[in-house]
Amino acid sequence: MLPKVSVFAMGGTIAASGRAERGVKPSLGADAMVDAVPQLAEVAAVEARTFRLLPSPEVTIPDLFELADAIERAVAGGAAGAVVTHGTDTLEESAFVLDRILSLDAPVVLTGAMRNPTLAGPDGPANLLNAVRLAAHGPARGMGAMVVMNDLIHAARFVQKGETSNPAAFRSGPMGPLGWFAEGAVRLAGPPGPRHTVQVARDAAPAPVALLTVTLGDDGRLIERALEAGYRGIVIELTGGGHAAHWVADRLVEAARRVPVVMASRTGAGEMLRRTYDFKGSEIDLLARGLIGAGWLDGLKARLLLTLLLTAGADDAAIREAFANWLDPAPE
Ligand code: ASP
Repeated sequence: MLPKVSVFAMGGTIAASGRAERGVKPSLGADAMVDAVPQLAEVAAVEARTFRLLPSPEVTIPDLFELADAIERAVAGGAAGAVVTHGTDTLEESAFVLDRILSLDAPVVLTGAMRNPTLAGPDGPANLLNAVRLAAHGPARGMGAMVVMNDLIHAARFVQKGETSNPAAFRSGPMGPLGWFAEGAVRLAGPPGPRHTVQVARDAAPAPVALLTVTLGDDGRLIERALEAGYRGIVIELTGGGHAAHWVADRLVEAARRVPVVMASRTGAGEMLRRTYDFKGSEIDLLARGLIGAGWLDGLKARLLLTLLLTAGADDAAIREAFANWLDPAPE
């Protein structure tokens, strides 16, 4: 008896069709994608469902809440794991959200394609086959949400898209991938670390959180505008390990009196410093004046974590604890 795997199609390039010279768009349903990969029949009993047919930027957090419900129902109904096919542009964000809100042991595997089916060497079919292999793989239980692209397995907490069109676009920061595929076998090198889930009501409207970046010579006026526009939190991507000009720092500190302001690095990688530089606008100054460090989460992931925490009704102390705990996990 083959394990049952539920495939949920969200859209993206993996679902694209059209003519190469006129551009493609997501239009293939889940059944069409699954039927195009006959090898799937040797790996799992696949149940395919077209959940959305969207380009990545149109996927919303409520879509992901609904998807999380559907994945839980599929697992409760006997699926060994779930696969989500998705546009690659926001794949890392959807993976991060699902990893935070699902507490399932069953593997949840997101995948997509960098080369659409009108191009030579489309990668969607191979990625889908590998994703189903991983979803059906017993030892992958308990590892949370993962991303499969280009024969590699990434943990949702680390994965980032770092290229626009190269099939090797996905990377996993300092740790590297969780595993790989070879000759059809799944190889897992290790578990990704503690889970850090957020209990959030799936019918709640997501709290708006702005993501801003500091740039050379900018005066930081968007910080106030973000508050005027009704954002309930701000993630600011600072230079290097957490630095801003002193005049931007003052604006950030002012904002932090009203809403949580989380600082990440605009480099997109590496850990925010906590005790290295001490000038006005340095990490020591900003942390002492009320900002919250994102640890090693990049701006995109820090924004999603803050969104989920605010949506769950977390107060200032709980938000600070959640970000601190993310960096230095409290013993379980
Ligand atoms: N380039 C995208 C993709 O790979 C388009 C999208 O993300 O929807 O799927």
